[in-house]
Amino acid sequence: MVQVKRLADKVAVVTGASSGIGKAIALRFGEEGARVVVAARRYELCQTVAAQIREGGGEAWAQRVDVTDEEQVEALIDQAVAQYGKLDILVNNAGIAGGGHIAKTSTAAFDRVLNTNLRGTFFCCRAGIRHMIRHGGGTIINMSSVAGVDAWAGTGTYSASKHGIMGLTKALADEARAHQIRVCAICPGGVADELVDASPEEIDQSGKISPFDIAETAIYLATLGPHAIVHRIIVDRLGAEW
Ligand code: NDP
Repeated sequence: MVQVKRLADKVAVVTGASSGIGKAIALRFGEEGARVVVAARRYELCQTVAAQIREGGGEAWAQRVDVTDEEQVEALIDQAVAQYGKLDILVNNAGIAGGGHIAKTSTAAFDRVLNTNLRGTFFCCRAGIRHMIRHGGGTIINMSSVAGVDAWAGTGTYSASKHGIMGLTKALADEARAHQIRVCAICPGGVADELVDASPEEIDQSGKISPFDIAETAIYLATLGPHAIVHRIIVDRLGAEW
C-alpha cells in the first residue's frame, strides 16, 4: 500500500531544529514529504539533521540562524523562499530556559530568556507572515509551554516569555486569518530532551513526553482542513497535576 505523505509539496522552516523538539519536528516533517529548512545556531548539528532527512528520502537543508538577530531571521525566511519558492509552514520553536525565583533573577538572565523566546519569536513571526501574506496562505506554529498558560514559583522569567508568545500568537492569528494563514501555539509539559535536562530543579524528570509526540502535534496543526484552526494545544505529561 502506498503511504500518503501528509506534508507532500509543503515547504517548512523549523527553528531550534538542531536538537530536542525542533529536531523531532524537522525529522517527522521530512518523513511526511515536506522540504525542510533545519535552522539553529549550531550549524553542524543542523547539517546532521538535514542529512538524516535526506538519507530517509526527504529533502532538507541546514541554515545557521540566531533568532535574536532580526537580520539573520529575515535572511533565513528570504533564503527559504528563494530556495523553494514559497513558505507553507513556519515552526518557531527556538527557545531557552532560565531565570528561577524572581528575587534572585539577574537582569541579564531575564533579558537573555526574553530576547530568545519572545523577541526571537516576534522576529520569526514577522518575517514569516510577510511572505505568507504575499503567497496567500500558510501555518505558523509557535512553541509555547504549559508555562505559557500557567506559572509556578521559580518559573517567572520563562513563564513571562511563554505567556508573551501566547499573546503574540493570538493577535497574529486574528491579523492573519483574512489571508488564509493559521497561527497557533503548542504548549507542552515536560518533554524528554536537553532543555529538561538543563533545568533539573525546575522540571520534574519523571514521566516525560516524547519530542515525537510534539512533532505529531505539529503535523496535526499543519494538516487541518482549509477552514479549521486550533488556536492552542496543550500536550501535558499524563502524570502531571492539572
Ligand atoms: P533544546 O535545548 O533541545 O532545543 C532548543 C533549541 O533552540 C535548540 O535547537 C537550540 O539550538 C535552539 N536555540 C536556542 N537559542 C537559539 C537562538 N538564539 N537562535 C536559534 N536557535 C536557538 O530544548 P527543547 O527541545 O526542549 O526546546 C524547544 C522548545 O520547546 C523551546 O521553545 C522550549 O521552551 C519549548 N518547550 C520545551 C519543553 C520541555 O520540557 N523540553 C516544555 C515546553 C516547551 P542552537 O543551540 O543550536 O541554537
